[in-house]
Amino acid sequence: MNQFDAILSERLAAIRDQGLYRQLRQIDSPQSSHIEIGGRALLNFSSNDYLGLSNEPVLKEAAIEAVKKFGSGSGASRLICGSVAPHHELEEALAAFKGLEAALTFSTGYAAAVGAISALIGKEDVVVVDKLVHASIVDGARLSGAKLRVFAHNDLNDLEEILRWAEKARDRKRVLIVTESIFSMDGDCAPLREIVELKNKYGAWLMVDEAHATGVYGKNRRGLAEELGVSGDIEVQMGTLGKALGASGGYIAGSRTLIDYLVNRARSFIFSTAPVPAAAAAATAGIRFVESSKGEARRKMLWDRVKEFDSQALSAIIPVIIGNESKAVETAAALWEQKIYVPAIRYPTVARNQARLRITVTAAHKKEDVATFRDILHQLSPQ
Ligand code: PMP
Repeated sequence: MNQFDAILSERLAAIRDQGLYRQLRQIDSPQSSHIEIGGRALLNFSSNDYLGLSNEPVLKEAAIEAVKKFGSGSGASRLICGSVAPHHELEEALAAFKGLEAALTFSTGYAAAVGAISALIGKEDVVVVDKLVHASIVDGARLSGAKLRVFAHNDLNDLEEILRWAEKARDRKRVLIVTESIFSMDGDCAPLREIVELKNKYGAWLMVDEAHATGVYGKNRRGLAEELGVSGDIEVQMGTLGKALGASGGYIAGSRTLIDYLVNRARSFIFSTAPVPAAAAAATAGIRFVESSKGEARRKMLWDRVKEFDSQALSAIIPVIIGNESKAVETAAALWEQKIYVPAIRYPTVARNQARLRITVTAAHKKEDVATFRDILHQLSPQ
């Protein structure tokens, strides 16, 4: 083995020793409640396909039509010659869906977070994030060069203390607060109304990542901000197109000025080839589906299944905290033996000793699927 591989092997051995080794698994079926891995049929309780749209005929047809009309690739970045019609249609559909002036799409949610945060603030500013925000927000905050302060999860007192400190730090110009609305690994909700009050009180800006709430919460299924009536008070609304919307990509929505600014300043947008036309077309079809009465029916189905699984659940994300990393891997392996697929979530996705099964229920699950899974979980850990 050459020196390069020898060093990496040593690092990998250390990762293994901590129970943190990860491996890709090849899925040989469409994304759904039932998947196939290596010839094994499994009941899947791990996807973010909350409304079961990723294999929905109207989304697939929209993608196929876009390929026929616009080809397989976009050819260049959006600002060069890659801004094909499906991207514009998607952004118009998104802005209308969110009830906001404008929207900008990115190849991934990760790129949306990193691009927007690093464009909006710089080294003379402060960025304040919830302890449990997604890695893309942390990476965007670090890249921005702003002073990064972290408040304890959903802790308004801690947030206010930091805002008070930032107010006094006169060398700091802008303060940007960033939180998720539904937290990806814990499934709980941010107190958005109270956060809005604080950001108004201290003159800060607010960015909310609705990755796990878009399509699922609010009268028009715009997200938790709509449900809590604070949509008009959030400067930067972020979300993803690859979860409830059944496609792929990320977005930022807000004022026309915000979007014009990001087109000029968000580097992950500017210096990256436009997503394939098919992805944009599928996402537009996903939005139309969510806006329709079928979308409302799906959402109802989702909540029925969630409540059947756990009547106390706060969202479709139900974490079972195990703690020790190796133990979590063993539990996931025991579920695998029972033909249930829920991989163990470990550091660095969650904190050390916070390893867990992250169970997600979707509208694609049948009542029987939920009952089967519940029985198996109960057998594994009878209480
Ligand atoms: N934000 C949150 C809260 C997420 O959970 C994720 C993805 N899991 C992202 C952003 C990134 O989105 P994408 O997968 O589209 O890059």
